[in-house]
Amino acid sequence: MERSADNALGIYLSIPFCRSKCTYCNFASGVYPAAEHERYVEQLIGDMAAAAAWANEVGAELPRRVDTVYLGGGTPSLLAPELLANLFATLRAHFQVDSDAEITMECAPGQLADAMPEALAAAGVNRVSLGVQSFVDAEARSSGRLHNRATVASDLQRLRAAGIANLNVDLIAGLAGQTPASWEESLDALRESGVPHASVYMLEVDEDSRLGHELLQGGSRYRAKLVPGDETIAAMYERAVVRLNQAGLRQYEISNFSRPGLESRHNLRYWQRRPYLGIGLDASSMLRGDPTLAAKAKTPPGLGSRLDESSMVLRVTTTDDFQEYLSGRTLAETAWLSPERQHEEAWFLGLRMNAGVDVSALQREFGPEPVAPAMQTAERLAHDGLLSFAGERVRLTPRGRLMSNDVFQEFLTTGNSQQGPGIGFPAAQQLEVRG
Ligand code: SF4
Repeated sequence: MERSADNALGIYLSIPFCRSKCTYCNFASGVYPAAEHERYVEQLIGDMAAAAAWANEVGAELPRRVDTVYLGGGTPSLLAPELLANLFATLRAHFQVDSDAEITMECAPGQLADAMPEALAAAGVNRVSLGVQSFVDAEARSSGRLHNRATVASDLQRLRAAGIANLNVDLIAGLAGQTPASWEESLDALRESGVPHASVYMLEVDEDSRLGHELLQGGSRYRAKLVPGDETIAAMYERAVVRLNQAGLRQYEISNFSRPGLESRHNLRYWQRRPYLGIGLDASSMLRGDPTLAAKAKTPPGLGSRLDESSMVLRVTTTDDFQEYLSGRTLAETAWLSPERQHEEAWFLGLRMNAGVDVSALQREFGPEPVAPAMQTAERLAHDGLLSFAGERVRLTPRGRLMSNDVFQEFLTTGNSQQGPGIGFPAAQQLEVRG
């Protein structure tokens, strides 16, 4: 088996604080008092400081060099500037952050304190992602956002004035009350904003969100009855692909569009299966195994016989329970992925990107055995118009992008299990990020 050398890490820091809860949101985020912010940041700092010792203990490779950092949530810009400064100081004390690293922070429009753009720039943040969702004021308001179109324009201007020009705007197709005409309005405003990157998501109502409850149980508070139908949402998405491409924002992933060279380097890491360390509430990590360390580490019995050491991949997820996280019980699951599971992921993560999956690279990495049946699946899906072939690459077609979850499902051969059979850590051996 073969895998590419990757000596740089991406770090994700989860900051789960919001000023108010959006109606469609079911992330592990919430509205917490400032004292909790402090306790949470202390825990994050402890986890960052303990990460290298923990990786050593479990037999994972943790590159010290970092070339992407992403602060997401939540609304990380709600943290007090001194807490942010502490986080960045700890990050730089324990990792070697490249001078040209991409450092992104998610911000909510209308919630950037006066000195925040300058504080972000001083901390090294060079990319900001703004959760706009809609430029139509009534739509933004009714989904629980606290901004209007003028606020967004003003925030973009303030960020640019502070020297942060690499800006992303998120939009959601399918908000309550949205229509094809109002969607055009948002797309017009997005083009006029001049941002070099946009993310467009099709709303999938989670039944545990407030909007989801209203859809299931009735009511009128969140205007759930005004959520557009699936076909309308799909048409809005297709329209966004056309309009954004016309505006010079090339689609490079199902939901992501950018000017050439300004793709999100951190997010590409996930789809390209390059290592990342996620710290904080409900974060996940993917690290390669270090065969020398793993030989001495607490790897579960039988791991060595199931996995070629050069292809060991560790998946770690942290708890989504805020109080549990604060109490130091940070990890929810730690599992070595079987080669079968890694091969499946290579398909459904690779297909997300417009560049698609490089079949010959998969054959070199996993050998011909698992790739041959996957190619039969790909040929069947190509026959159905959901995938296309170009040389050694397989890609989603525009129709395939609309049905991507169905396509990905076809590549799952080991069931929906997140782990290879029998190789997860038994509960007693679950490892804490804290030393
Ligand atoms: S700001 Fe983001 S994380 Fe917070 S409630 Fe809204 S969608 Fe959820």
